[in-house]
Amino acid sequence: MNNCSRNYALIGHLDSFARYRWFFNQLRETDKESLSDTELRSYINAMPPSRVAEIYPVEGSLGRSVRGCYIDCYFDPESLNDLSYMRLALRKVKKGCELAARLGVGIVSLGGFTSILGELSRESHPLVIDQTAFTTGNTLTCYATLQGTIEMVERRGRNLEEERVLIIGATGDIGSGCTRWLNGRVRRLDLVARDFNRLERFIDDLPSTKTLIKAHRDINSIASQADIVIAVANTLSNVFDPSIFDPQAIICDVGYPKNFKTRSKSGGPIIFYGGMIKGPGEGKVEPSFLMNELYPDLDVIQGCLGEAPLLAMADRMEPFSYGRGNITPEKIDEIGALARAHGFSVAPPHNDNGYLYPEDLPISKMKEERFYTNTI
Ligand code: NDP
Repeated sequence: MNNCSRNYALIGHLDSFARYRWFFNQLRETDKESLSDTELRSYINAMPPSRVAEIYPVEGSLGRSVRGCYIDCYFDPESLNDLSYMRLALRKVKKGCELAARLGVGIVSLGGFTSILGELSRESHPLVIDQTAFTTGNTLTCYATLQGTIEMVERRGRNLEEERVLIIGATGDIGSGCTRWLNGRVRRLDLVARDFNRLERFIDDLPSTKTLIKAHRDINSIASQADIVIAVANTLSNVFDPSIFDPQAIICDVGYPKNFKTRSKSGGPIIFYGGMIKGPGEGKVEPSFLMNELYPDLDVIQGCLGEAPLLAMADRMEPFSYGRGNITPEKIDEIGALARAHGFSVAPPHNDNGYLYPEDLPISKMKEERFYTNTI
């Protein structure tokens, strides 16, 4: 165990250019748009990764307290389809990793596109620098995605075994882990990715079980037949339209940025944000505005980011999740057991409108209308 006050770091980025504008305005304590978009973009591009927030100690159920910090890499995911921008973002992620190592933390989570960029560019991130180990956090994300989906199915009085599940982004790291775990546990799996050959090779390697598995080039032909949708595509912005799905479908959107356009108020399937984990206690974050903006509660965070504090509590400073396609059902069960032992649970279903069920509402938030929108 490293001898420093912080045990872990989280490396990430905000989910859109608009969010960066909001973020810098918060820092400057103004709502004025004094910088033009072009000026702000070049400012963000020039920013080296920096430690944006301190996360004060949180104690797990087994009595172990851990403390961390958040490092932002300052890139706009919506611009990543430009190759030179992607290279710039990749250089920033590397610098972010070096910064985390210099801070001397034992374990680091690589959130959102900070882990994906390495795989896309075939330049994987280091698993360890000096005494610091790096994890993508995707195994805990898989656990939270699956457990959250099961809980939604149960809350709606349905049975997972009878469901037809569509996975968008099935060959990805999270998608392949979820597929392997669900194979044999559901009636049918419809898998979608754009690289059809890779998708077929992936399916060929899956063990045969009672689950019928089919590959699809896009979602249009099968959307209306899905009971459950697990959306884990690395889309750069919200590309999928919920209105093509059955109104009774359950959509678990794990993407960051989100895969789905926000649902219209008039009916349609229910969308909840998947892969989210609830920590063992409210972590005080300084400055706090970022948590208040991004999450329904102070103890809720993406599974990928939650993996570092969990591994730190368990004193397992190791690259538990690495590369792409290495997540097995056994690893998902292992991280799930570890999470439960240290007091982590799956975050109650929520979306931008807040929690979906009033019983999940923390008493302290009861009066705040934005947290009480039962959309079911
Ligand atoms: P990967 O890069 O490993 O996989 C992405 C998958 O999406 C691939 O199968 C890719 O295949 C597919 N894909 C991309 N675009 C499309 C499309 N238009 N239609 C269908 N499939 C598509 O990503 P990860 O598994 O690491 O991450 C997935 C998402 O989850 C990202 O948005 C990431 O930021 C987010 N995330 C969320 C977390 C959370 O806790 N909620 C934690 C970590 C990540 P192909 O290219 O062949 O289409």
